[in-house]
Amino acid sequence: MNDTISSDMISNDLAEGLANCAREPVHIPGAIQPAGCLVCVDNALQQVLSVSANIAEILGVTPTEAFGQSPSQLLGPDLLEQLASRLELDDSLPLTLECQYQTDTFEGGLQATVYQSDTRWVFEFEPIVSVPEQHSLALLNRWIKVLGRTQSVERLLFRLIEAVESLTGYGRIMVYQFDEEWHGTVISEKRHDALESFLGHRFPAKDIPPQVRALYSVNPVRSIPDAGAPAVSLLSRAGSRDAPIDMGPGYLRASSPVHLRYLANMGVGASLSVAIFSEDNLWGLLACHHGTPKALSPQIRDTLLALVQMASQRLFLLESRGQMRYLKRVMDSRELVSYSRGHLIRPDELIREHGKSWLALFDACGLALMSRFGVSRLGITPDDAVLKRIASGLTAGNRHNGPWFTDQLTDHMSVTTLVQGDDIVGCYGLLALPMNVESPPGWFLLFRQEQPRTHRWAGKPEDVVVEEEGRKVLNPRHSFATWVEEVRGRSRPWLPIEVRAALDLAEDLAIAVSVNHIAHLNSELQSVNKRLESLAHTDSLTGVWNRYHLELSIDAEIKVAHRYQRHCCVLLFDIDHFKQFNDQHGHEAGDRVLKTLATTVESCLRAGDRFGRWGGEEFLILTGIDPKGAELLAERLRRKVEEIDLGDLGQVTISIGVASYHPGDNRKQLVARADQAMYQAKSEGRNRVVSSL
Ligand code: GH3
Ligand code: MG
Ligand code: MG
Repeated sequence: MNDTISSDMISNDLAEGLANCAREPVHIPGAIQPAGCLVCVDNALQQVLSVSANIAEILGVTPTEAFGQSPSQLLGPDLLEQLASRLELDDSLPLTLECQYQTDTFEGGLQATVYQSDTRWVFEFEPIVSVPEQHSLALLNRWIKVLGRTQSVERLLFRLIEAVESLTGYGRIMVYQFDEEWHGTVISEKRHDALESFLGHRFPAKDIPPQVRALYSVNPVRSIPDAGAPAVSLLSRAGSRDAPIDMGPGYLRASSPVHLRYLANMGVGASLSVAIFSEDNLWGLLACHHGTPKALSPQIRDTLLALVQMASQRLFLLESRGQMRYLKRVMDSRELVSYSRGHLIRPDELIREHGKSWLALFDACGLALMSRFGVSRLGITPDDAVLKRIASGLTAGNRHNGPWFTDQLTDHMSVTTLVQGDDIVGCYGLLALPMNVESPPGWFLLFRQEQPRTHRWAGKPEDVVVEEEGRKVLNPRHSFATWVEEVRGRSRPWLPIEVRAALDLAEDLAIAVSVNHIAHLNSELQSVNKRLESLAHTDSLTGVWNRYHLELSIDAEIKVAHRYQRHCCVLLFDIDHFKQFNDQHGHEAGDRVLKTLATTVESCLRAGDRFGRWGGEEFLILTGIDPKGAELLAERLRRKVEEIDLGDLGQVTISIGVASYHPGDNRKQLVARADQAMYQAKSEGRNRVVSSL
C-alpha cells in the first residue's frame, strides 16, 4: 500500500472492499468445482437449458450434443423416473438420487443432487467413490453412541473431531464458535503436525461474510475438495437468456476467488465445513482443512452431516442443562424475593438481604435498584447522581421496554451523556432491566468491571484492498500467524441466559417494589380515613364530640332506655354572657375558655357519659344516671366551671337545663325540654341549674 495514501482513503477503500465482498453473489457464480458436473433442464423436463463444460468427462457427451438431446436421453429414463416417484412421496428438495452410468470416460455410480432454481431443475452429479468398510453405518452408529455418552461440551466437541478425523482423514479439524459480532473462535482442534494450530484463535467476521453464512441455512455442508482446481463454467443453450442458476442448495458451487486466495494463503488444499445450528441460529462450524486436495465421497459427506447434526443436538442438550442449573439458582433467589413480599420488605432491605447473592449470580461488581423509593445500591457502582443520569438516558432511549446491555458503557453516548470516564468507576459493563410497573419505569442495574482481554487472532485481521476489473475487492491476509490484540475498556459480555434471568428477577423486584408502594399508599389512606372519621365526629376547637355524634348517641340511648327501661338524662348548658366576655377579652380568649371549659367538664364525667359541643357556647351531656343523680351532676359541674381560674380574665358561669327521658320521647322532645329548662335558668338569673324531670 502506498505510504502517501491518507488513512481516510484507506478506510474508504476498505469499506468499499468489505461492501463488495458482502455483496458478492456467491450463490450464482456461473461455474462449478470440477468434482462433478451439472445439468439444468426446464420445469417440464423437456429441454436441456445449460450444462457444465466438463459433462463429457462424466456423462460422455459434449455440451453441444447435450443440447441436442432431451433430458430423458441425456440423463436416462431411470433417473427421471426416480425423481418422479420421489416427488410423489412429497420429498423435500434437494433430493439425493443414485444412478449408474457407463460411458467412454466414466463407469460407476453417481450421486445426483436435484434441486430447483426458479422453475428449472438442476442436477448435480458427483462420482461415488467406493467407501471403505470402516466408514460403514456400523461405524457411524458407534460414534453416535460415543457422542451420546459425553457429559461436557469440551469432551463432546473433541469426540466429534475424532469421529470426523476417522471418517475423513482431514489434516486439521476444528470447531469454530461464533460470538455476537460473528467473529469466530476455534474452541476445539485436532491436527497433523504439518499444519499449524489455530486452537484459541479468533477469525474476524469478514472471513465468512453474511451471504456466505446465510448459505449454511440452505445447505449446511460446504466442501471444496480441491482449492487449487480451476472452476468449470456453465454453458447455456444458444439463444437462452435464463437468469443465473442459484446453486445454494447444491454441493458443486464454485468458490469465490477471494475465498480461494484466502485458503491458498493459509496453505489449505481442501476444505470442508459443516454448520452447527442451535435451533435457527448459526452457532458455529465444524471446519476441516487438508494441506493437499482431498476428494470426498458424497456418502461420507452425508455421514458427516448426520454426525454433526447428532452432535449439535447433544451440544445443545448439554448447554441447556448448564443453563437450567443456572436458571434454577436464579429461580431460588427469586423465590426468596417473593417470600419477602409477604413481609412488605423495602427495596433497600431487599438489596441488603439478597444483593450479595445477585452479585454472585450475575458475576457483577455492583447493582442498583432505582424506584420511587429512591436509589438503593450495593458494591461498586457509579454514585447516585451518575446513576440518575444513566437512568434518565436509559428511559429516554428505551422505547421497547426491554433490557439494555453493553460491555462497553463508554461507547454509548445516549446513556452516558454527562457521564465522564471517572464517574463510572471502572464499571464498563451495564445490564439495565426496566421495571415497567412504574411510570416512568424504575431500573434494576447490574454493573461489571473492566475485564482486560487478550484476543489471539489468526493473522492480523487486516485485508489489503486491490482493484479488480475496476472494483475494489479484498485481498485476504497472507499471514495467519498469531496476532495478539489486548482489548481494554470492556467488561465480560452479558450472556443471553444472564439477560433472560436478570429480566425475570427484575420483574419480581418490580412487583415487590410496587406491592410495597401500594401497601405504603394503603397505610397512608388508612390514616387519612381515620382523620376523616374523627373529623366527622369531633369538634375541631375543643376536641369533644360534635353535634352530629351527640345526636346519633341520643338516638341510640333513647332506644336502649325504651327497650330496657333504663334512665337517660340530658344536661344542656350555655355560657352566661359570653358575648360580653368575647367583646371584653377578644375572640381568641373566648376560644381558650371554650377549650378549658370542655376539658374541665370532661374530667368530671364517668366513662359512660357522652359530652359534646351542641353549638356556639352550648354543650350537651348525655348520661345514663337517674334524674336525681343528673341534677346533682349538673350542680357539681356548675360549681366546677365557676371555680375555673382564668387569671386576669376573671370567671365564667354556665346555666344548665336538665331533662330526663319520658317513655315515648324522641330526641327532639327530650332536647327541647332540656333547652326550655336551660332558658328558665337564664331567665331566673343564670349560673344555676333548672330541671325538667
Ligand atoms: P346569655 O347569657 O344569654 O347566653 O348571653 P350570651 O352573650 O352568652 O348569648 P348570645 O347568644 O347573645 O351570644 C353568644 C355568644 O357566644 C356570641 C358569640 O360571640 C359567642 N360564641 C359562640 N361561639 C363561639 C366560639 O366558637 N368562640 C368564641 N370565642 N365565642 C363564641
Ligand atoms: Mg347561647
Ligand atoms: Mg350564652
